[in-house]
Amino acid sequence: MKAIVKEAAGPGFVLRDVVEPRIRDDEVLIRVRRAGVCGTDVHIYDWDAWASHRCKPPFVVGHEFAGDVAEVGRLVTAVKRGDRVTAEGHIVDGRCLLCRTGNAHVCPYTRIIGVDRDGCFAEYISMPATNVWHLDDNIGYEVGGIHDPMGNAFHTALTADIPGATVLITGCGPIGLFAIGICRAAGASRVIASDINDKRLELARTMGAHNAVTPEEVEPVVKGATEGLGVDVVLEMSGVPSAIHQAFALVRVGGRVQMLGIPARPVEVDFSSEIIFKGITIYGVVGRRMYNTWHQMTRFLRSGEFDPTPVITHRFPMSEIDDAIRAIKAGDAGKVILEIG
Ligand code: NAD
Ligand code: ZN
Repeated sequence: MKAIVKEAAGPGFVLRDVVEPRIRDDEVLIRVRRAGVCGTDVHIYDWDAWASHRCKPPFVVGHEFAGDVAEVGRLVTAVKRGDRVTAEGHIVDGRCLLCRTGNAHVCPYTRIIGVDRDGCFAEYISMPATNVWHLDDNIGYEVGGIHDPMGNAFHTALTADIPGATVLITGCGPIGLFAIGICRAAGASRVIASDINDKRLELARTMGAHNAVTPEEVEPVVKGATEGLGVDVVLEMSGVPSAIHQAFALVRVGGRVQMLGIPARPVEVDFSSEIIFKGITIYGVVGRRMYNTWHQMTRFLRSGEFDPTPVITHRFPMSEIDDAIRAIKAGDAGKVILEIG
């Protein structure tokens, strides 16, 4: 089969023929139709410090996808051939303290497809049947293929108290853009979004942000909308140190900061003024809660109140993966899709 492979330690991907995956008795084989390309793939493509410490080439890259079940293992009962599916890309051990107390999203034994083992930029992928998520009939492969980053946004937003809240979202990458639509659908009274990129601010307005502004403009907008108090909830979705400080500065006393963005380096924080004496709660977001987030996501999509499709801006065939990576690096794309089969 054709697959996009991280061939060796060093920059770049190659498109080549690889052996089709074989499934175990508790796994399914999925024919991939659409896949999402994301910042993590760019780190692996560039072979930065994180990627070179974490990944062991050669392996098939990609972790966001949807497709059709082509084959099921002998022990699989809940999934059948022909089912239209996506999957949770974090494969957990299912046995540890975290997994058995409802916290599998932070299982220390997590292996991520396309990072720690073969991924989905390929005609076929094998997955444990327990990770498979069925798509409603009216959900296309494109939206199916971006459940992973949408799930990050659902997890970040819905573990805070959004109904009626004033919300600041710092960073309007694909995940921040999804979060804007989710907060609107969940009944936030005001959604203020910030980014440094005009195209992304435009998408933020399309997704329903009441205000979409540059980092320099955020403070007066927040103060003006909250009687000078600050917002109830900040979703930090940039990973940029100045935005993190802004999150702490503009959340109200007793408010909540949901941290999704991953800083490239350690960030210095003044605990007493930025956190302790503000009495705030900070929540670190990892992946998607298994499987609360997935149920919530499916129900929001079913309601029709949340539409992720405006976030999708680019589509490429597998042969143009270099262009897909370039589109993300340019910094003004929404979600980039690979059309596989
Ligand atoms: P992205 O890099 O496309 O989005 C980040 C956005 O922040 C960009 O649009 C950028 O222009 C904007 N930005 C830069 N400086 C800013 C500033 N000072 N104020 C406001 N915005 C600013 O990434 P994404 O795919 O949407 O992901 C968002 C973040 O979440 C990334 O840091 C990513 O690594 C992280 N992430 C975390 C998890 C997790 O499980 N915690 C999962 C996926 C992604
Ligand atoms: Zn576990």
